[in-house]
Amino acid sequence: MTPAEHRIPNTEHLPRYFDNAATTPLDPRVLEAMLPYLQEDFGNPNSLHSFGQKAQIAIENARQQVAELLNADDPSQITFTSGATESNNWIARNFPDAWVSPFEHSSLHEPANALGLNTLSNREHELCHLDKPASLVSVMAVNNETGTEWDVRAFRPVAEKLHSDLTQAVGKLQTSVEGLDYASFSAHKFYGPKGSGGLFIRDEPLPPLLLGGEQEGGLRGGTLNVPGIVGMGAAARIALEEQEQNHLHASELNALVLDALRDVSDWRVNGGGQRSPYILSISFLGVEGESLVIDADRRGFAISSGAACSSRSVEPSHVLMALELEENWRRGTVRISFGRHNTLDSTVNLAKSLGQTVEKLRTMT
Ligand code: PMP
Repeated sequence: MTPAEHRIPNTEHLPRYFDNAATTPLDPRVLEAMLPYLQEDFGNPNSLHSFGQKAQIAIENARQQVAELLNADDPSQITFTSGATESNNWIARNFPDAWVSPFEHSSLHEPANALGLNTLSNREHELCHLDKPASLVSVMAVNNETGTEWDVRAFRPVAEKLHSDLTQAVGKLQTSVEGLDYASFSAHKFYGPKGSGGLFIRDEPLPPLLLGGEQEGGLRGGTLNVPGIVGMGAAARIALEEQEQNHLHASELNALVLDALRDVSDWRVNGGGQRSPYILSISFLGVEGESLVIDADRRGFAISSGAACSSRSVEPSHVLMALELEENWRRGTVRISFGRHNTLDSTVNLAKSLGQTVEKLRTMT
């Protein structure tokens, strides 16, 4: 019996979990890969003895797997961090003159505001244009609230360096760091463990955010999270193999929701242009998104009322504000985000249930 078989996880509820942009469940194959590094192979990769060497080999194997998923030229371009939040903060701290898009995740939006970075206007963002050349422009690949896709490479003529937060794209859409100088990502968005991510650095190392250790070539102090990194590597390998079928599945589910809502009045899909099929942001006029989330939960479905990170906040989402969505629409916004465990049936049931709740709430007001 392998250690993972000691506990058979209950997966019955997974088809009704529609918050995969907040986090995805750990793939059992990933857990299997991680377990030895939580148990017998516990060495510190910085140690010279064979315990350390074993961990070091596993780290370099994971670096290779992540580099392949990102289509990086060389595994040494991957620096492991605790996740995209750390990677985004690292970027913000080192480019005080940078320009960031108005739609960035709070892990870039907030440090950018706190450190006085420039925010692109909607128009500059749409036209991919700035009047003066910038030291760095950062635009996320897929917005975590609306699923809208962008390509920061369009800013190349006006930017010395390009950074993209790839967190909602990696492992889901075909993703490449070609033409980027820096890129952030997190393992738990593609069935890996939480607290493990990285920053792709093409060729210009950044001064470290965390001092106090020689790990990661001196770029990031702190004992490496060996099980987390090994798990990210395994998740990267699986994502590369299964990406195409997962993408098709998400597209099918996305279309099913829109179809199942056809008899409900006054709703709209947020975010224009090309959208990732994994994320669907819908606003229902005249209802509260929170009430929809709570009622869905009562019926066994997990959805979100906006960005998961801010769904407990009373502040309006800066993304929906930047989209200039009027308040009576904005308040009725929910985010449905798909994963490979959702079934056709669970998806239709969710959409029908949402429609019923919307109609019930509207008759109450
Ligand atoms: N960027 C984006 C686009 C995200 O969706 C998230 C997670 N919600 C993050 C960054 C932060 O990732 P983590 O919490 O793993 O650091």
